[in-house]
Amino acid sequence: MRIDTHMHIYADPARGLYEIENFPIVEYGEMAEVPLAGVGGSLDDALTALDDAGFDHAAVLGSYEVPGYPDLPAGLDHWPAEPVHGELRDELIAYNRWVCDLADASPKLLPFISANPAVMTSDESRAHLAEAFADWGARGVKLHPIGIRAFPHDPGLDGVYDACIDADVPIVFHSGPDTRGRGFSEPGVFAPLASARPDLRLVLAHLGGGSWRDTLAVADAHPQVMFDLSEIVIWTGATRGPSTQEVADLIRAIGVERVVTGSDFPWYSPAVTAERVEALPGFSDAERALLLGDNAARLLKLA
Ligand SMILES: [Zn+2]
Repeated sequence: MRIDTHMHIYADPARGLYEIENFPIVEYGEMAEVPLAGVGGSLDDALTALDDAGFDHAAVLGSYEVPGYPDLPAGLDHWPAEPVHGELRDELIAYNRWVCDLADASPKLLPFISANPAVMTSDESRAHLAEAFADWGARGVKLHPIGIRAFPHDPGLDGVYDACIDADVPIVFHSGPDTRGRGFSEPGVFAPLASARPDLRLVLAHLGGGSWRDTLAVADAHPQVMFDLSEIVIWTGATRGPSTQEVADLIRAIGVERVVTGSDFPWYSPAVTAERVEALPGFSDAERALLLGDNAARLLKLA
């Protein structure tokens, strides 16, 4: 079984292309040729990419950002308990409903919905997510702390974590540095959350991205945390990226059974990502099977 644990789908593929072109990936430094998927990420694009790569399932990760990416109010390191952008509540709910309804098009797709502490109170998030897990087919949550300008320990996210623990579903976080050095998604910033919520099924994406050297400390301290190797496995050999040997060594050090394969489509394709995983040095066929799908099947309760 092959499972892509990190895919994005856009209702309007022009939006996907816009994001790929206007938010270039800089954290790994320079690389001569970046093998982008070359599509905008419509539903059809996604299903075609999965078929081409022979994948059985994909987690479709949503993200809901406030237009203009407003920053935290001055002097605060968390959002106020009363949402600053509560007028977007219905839009966030409709977006999550859309993500869940993607699964109607194909049973391969597993919806991961989103939350935003600038839009909903902690209690509202808890109730909304609980309904989506129970009745809408949502299989997990995705949060992009840089995109929503929120630290993982923001009290406005408590209800999100409660809902995930109650439903026993995973939560995938983007991890890596941000260009302004705020540290919203640095690997170490997840440690307090992992300590406070040992029952939360945390997945840190990109093996820490450009901060991959800080990832093992979190992994060692919090054995319940899992990781996806999306993106970083594409950027091996970049000026600030790891070598393929260093990615393989990091996976080995974390534990092969704790790492899953994601493509971050439509940035990169599942096919190229799977080729990169197969080319990582030093793993047995059984270990490659764990990385390419068996670990994810456990994570997503598909096994
Ligand atoms: Zn992503």
